[in-house]
Amino acid sequence: MRYSDFPYVIAGAGITGCTLARCIAEETGKRVLIVDRRNHIGGNCHSRLDPQTGIEVHSYGTHVFHTGEKRVWDFLNRFCEFNSYRHKVVTLYKGRTYHMPVNLQTINSFFGISLKPHEVDEFIRLKSSRENITDPQNLEEKAVSLIGRELYEAFVKGYTLKQWGRDPRELPAEIITRLPFRHGYECDYFTCRYQGLPWNGYADLFEKMLDHELIEVTLETDFFDIRKEIPEESTVFYTGPVDRFFDYRHGELSWRSLRFEYEVKDVSDYQGTAVMNYADIDIPFTRMHEYQHLHPERGNKSGKTVIAREYPEAWQQGDEPYYPVNTAQDRQRLELYRQETSKLENIHFAGRLGCYRYYDMDKAVLAALELCNAVFQGHDNCK
Ligand code: FAD
Repeated sequence: MRYSDFPYVIAGAGITGCTLARCIAEETGKRVLIVDRRNHIGGNCHSRLDPQTGIEVHSYGTHVFHTGEKRVWDFLNRFCEFNSYRHKVVTLYKGRTYHMPVNLQTINSFFGISLKPHEVDEFIRLKSSRENITDPQNLEEKAVSLIGRELYEAFVKGYTLKQWGRDPRELPAEIITRLPFRHGYECDYFTCRYQGLPWNGYADLFEKMLDHELIEVTLETDFFDIRKEIPEESTVFYTGPVDRFFDYRHGELSWRSLRFEYEVKDVSDYQGTAVMNYADIDIPFTRMHEYQHLHPERGNKSGKTVIAREYPEAWQQGDEPYYPVNTAQDRQRLELYRQETSKLENIHFAGRLGCYRYYDMDKAVLAALELCNAVFQGHDNCK
């Protein structure tokens, strides 16, 4: 490989890196090298076909595309069509199922009543004012002050404890500003205009994004192993962890990790929905995924189904980082790293790892499109 042939190098072939690669190739007409240390493109949005059932399985948790941004929708629709899947989440608590976010079905079945939509606000107000919390000091107090103790104990407490590995009384109140609930029976999880799953799967989407004569892809290659060979005048877009780029000189940024336990079940449909939340504290996983439901248009001819249990885990270096924890110490360290990135010429930091930020897919695409525009106009909004 002659690295001097590539004026642009991208570290990381996730949705951010793929968007950048395509934009740079089209905008500049120059060659782009994109490297990833994994053996596949697509980063955490990667999916694969399960060999036993032919069902498309998401390798890093269920990924449902949703956006209100027409610019992002139009960009991705150049490479794929989306199906008409609408995400619905069901929560299991003490052996009974409820819609999530909380809606009229949740409230009525949970309390065994039959409220009308116009009665919901007053009902919740009476519940949430019972403990008279005017200045909530932690997440538990904040949630109770918003939805009342019963709904908090059922739907927030156990799930939050498992997700973050900490008691909600130890978490800051600021984590939540509101807990959405719906006054009617509507149960679509997302309300944005454009939604769905890539018709031919995520792998096909990313292959098409990178299918350009000016883009070269190299997998199983760590950017730091080739860094010295990249000419100084090349422009680098780095979408790996920002702290690793600086050899953790200001300390590690903390993450929460996940473990997925996959299983093929010998039934055609195991839970009737793509994602079921498990709110009980004594069940160690937070969610169960059943991937066939993401593509109802495909049907399931195998007579079997693939499920995955999602277990939140503590993170340490070497584990897969999933959710930025974003403690006060993390924010201080990030600020120090940002000061370093702003001093660098020809290197731009992007994506969820490069910016240490939770991005939904559409926001990752939008940020990459904007970064691309901005870099070629001399202003980088990620620094
Ligand atoms: P990544 O996907 O992490 O890609 C970064 C790539 O860089 C990786 O492939 C990595 O291997 C590579 N890399 C890192 N360091 C190096 C290095 N040194 N050298 C070479 N390569 C390197 N969003 C939605 O819109 N809908 C959803 O339903 C949804 N579900 C989610 C579920 C979970 C459990 C999580 C955690 C996130 C979910 N997201 C969802 C968010 C989505 O995963 C992100 O928006 C997306 O992954 C961001 O892409 P990225 O390219 O920035 O990062």
